[in-house]
Amino acid sequence: MSCSFKCFHFPIIIFMLHVFTTTQISSSTDDSSFNNFLDSAKSSEVFDWMINIRRKIHENPELGYQEFETSELIRSELDKMGIPYKHPVAITGVIGFIGTGSSPFVAIRADMDALPMQEMVEWEHKSKVAGKMHACGHDAHVTMVLGAAKILKQHEKEIQGTVVLVFQPAEEGGGGAKKILDTGALENVTAIFGLHIAPDLPIGEVASKSGPILAGSGFFEAKISGKGGHAAIPQQSIDPILAASNVILSLQHLVSREADPLDSQVVTIGKCQGGSAYNVIPDSVTIGGTFRAFSKQSFNQLKQRIEQVIIGQAAVQRCNATVDFLDEVKPFYPPTINNGDLHEHFVNVAVNMLGINKVESAMSPFMGAEDFSFYQEVIPGYFFFLGMKNAEHERFVPSLHSPYLKINEDGLPYGAALHASLAASYLLKHQQDIVPGVERKYRDEL
Ligand SMILES: [Zn+2]
Ligand SMILES: [Zn+2]
Repeated sequence: MSCSFKCFHFPIIIFMLHVFTTTQISSSTDDSSFNNFLDSAKSSEVFDWMINIRRKIHENPELGYQEFETSELIRSELDKMGIPYKHPVAITGVIGFIGTGSSPFVAIRADMDALPMQEMVEWEHKSKVAGKMHACGHDAHVTMVLGAAKILKQHEKEIQGTVVLVFQPAEEGGGGAKKILDTGALENVTAIFGLHIAPDLPIGEVASKSGPILAGSGFFEAKISGKGGHAAIPQQSIDPILAASNVILSLQHLVSREADPLDSQVVTIGKCQGGSAYNVIPDSVTIGGTFRAFSKQSFNQLKQRIEQVIIGQAAVQRCNATVDFLDEVKPFYPPTINNGDLHEHFVNVAVNMLGINKVESAMSPFMGAEDFSFYQEVIPGYFFFLGMKNAEHERFVPSLHSPYLKINEDGLPYGAALHASLAASYLLKHQQDIVPGVERKYRDEL
């Protein structure tokens, strides 16, 4: 996922002023003992421990559903803190619990997987695994949920309910969130929070918005088959390269000619393979790509038209085509849509902790995707971006998924404290929501 933030400062300032006012009024409901979470997270006891964990995970990146050592490290840290957990959940996943063991339940989530790419940053804790790298910051995500766990554990007696720690596998295309949900492990959770590091946002700053923030995403691969032959005698062949070229051009017309210009959508062909000699027409060409949209309706329309265009346009050139949407290995991700009430809660907590000027509460959505959206389909959820900008990167800021990504570890305490504070204050607010008579069921869940 890559991010870029475009700020519309004027409306934000008005919105923030409103939030600031309500924050002052509602702050009396916040437990004052939760207000020093950032100081706790910045203490050398917590900060140095987090840096050490993050570097260990960074040195040993593991791909989706193979996060065995990362999972083991998480469990060993939870053991040391005396935090109970369920494992395995969805192969490598770990679900921890802090608090009363009773309702309400609120979850904070971290994804554990790395990417199949070579790290190009030369530093002491560079990835020790060739061709694998934590280039999306999930090493930091795990660390910050563990950091939150450490802080919350210190305040366990004051927690009015249960914080559920979700360490999930396979965010990068594997839909680990969906697998976690399928186990039923989050059945009683009434809100879930997740964050993503933002390498272009300064330390101590956060950004998010209410409503749609990231797009729904799908992948496809198509094989266009013709008849190979001599390049100089085309009349005896059926050329799949020409057909694929027309298919690619026609696919670009879906967004430009069929979509509402005000309804953001993307179709990108990122893969095109076929032919290996200058003078041979190959038998077939394989193309592949991704498509994005913010609504289910637009997403399904795109999916249907991608298949029709590939098959139809290939047929114009006398080729056959098959289209595979790869949903077994790369499930479709729904759009990430932030709950409005949780947005208000987030802004209150973040403004209290960071200050009004550090909270971008109306960031522009973008066409990246997150499997956090699976949680949001069944649980009110909230996803936000956390500043991790590196001072070394003043002129060129490597994006997420860049082999040059180097996060600023000074951002770790902010993520840990925000996770802890969002969860603890949510529970405090939602005491009145407990349904009498269902306590036993919740206890049995643990
Ligand atoms: Zn990513
Ligand atoms: Zn990511």
